[in-house]
Amino acid sequence: SKSSFEEKIRFFDPTMQEAVSKRLLLEEDIRRGLQAEEFIPYFQPQLNDIGQATGAEVLARWAHPQHGVLAPGVFIEVAEQAGLIEQIDLQMLRQACQQLAAWQREPDTAALTLAVNLSARLLYLPNFVATLLEFLTQSGADPYRLKLELTETMLLDDMSAAIARMHELREHGIRFSIDDFGTGYSSLSYLQKLPLDQLKIDQSFVRELPENSSSLAIIKAICALADSLQLEVIAEGVETEQQYHELLDLDCRYFQGYLFGRPMPLAEFSHWLRANQT
Ligand code: C2E
Ligand code: CA
Ligand code: CA
Ligand code: CA
Repeated sequence: SKSSFEEKIRFFDPTMQEAVSKRLLLEEDIRRGLQAEEFIPYFQPQLNDIGQATGAEVLARWAHPQHGVLAPGVFIEVAEQAGLIEQIDLQMLRQACQQLAAWQREPDTAALTLAVNLSARLLYLPNFVATLLEFLTQSGADPYRLKLELTETMLLDDMSAAIARMHELREHGIRFSIDDFGTGYSSLSYLQKLPLDQLKIDQSFVRELPENSSSLAIIKAICALADSLQLEVIAEGVETEQQYHELLDLDCRYFQGYLFGRPMPLAEFSHWLRANQT
């Protein structure tokens, strides 16, 4: 309520008060939004090297009753700090499973996959595996069509716990991709220890194509590494035809970026799929 909220912020330094009260207001609003199930998936197309849609990455949006549709930049950081990010992730996963199950029922969409972003908090939550398996069972979604995007940094928090978690999920068919790959400045030895399926080349390298020769070298190295470890490679942030052809030349097989499609709400994505098929 308003009064207990004001009590909370009275204890802070007055110069900090405005920033703090803004944060707390946002935090309370995220809690309300979670209750009202206002967090919805947007779908950004992923394609193979012959231009067929293989599926989409799920990107969270907040369908806010006053402010319209909000991107993660507005709420992710506060949600993380407030311990609410895992609830947003769970709402995305539940909706992703429902969507996969719906697609499975139609021959044209049965093979589509969905990649969902996971926060470190959620991966390490004790009942995470059980909850996700429940979403899959309840919806009837094929676990092989679900890919979880993890970042190097969240894995390095507690590598042995992460490995155990991932193997547990992998036993049920769930797949894994390393997001923002190449930006973690970490040792690569962990790649051998994890049950991975895909490396996702960070968009900062793709953006610099074709002029920047060091980005080109890094992408080449990632593709070679993936090849020798028998992992798929997907490039994200592909915005130009030139970048796309450069990546094709490097034998990158999967693509995502504004060149092909922006993140979109379900109805628009369904329309995009039909237009892309013909
Ligand atoms: P990310 O996982 O690295 O997602 C890629 C971001 O790049 C998305 O921003 C996407 O809209 C944007 N993008 C895609 N293609 C292009 C392109 O061609 N050019 C450019 N400039 N940008 C492109 P978005 O949707 O604002 O999401 C930002 C970040 O928020 C994500 O980065 C991810 O870290 C986080 N996020 C989004 N949804 C979720 C979620 O459900 N759970 C968690 N934990 N994090 C999420
Ligand atoms: Ca991602
Ligand atoms: Ca990324
Ligand atoms: Ca990122």
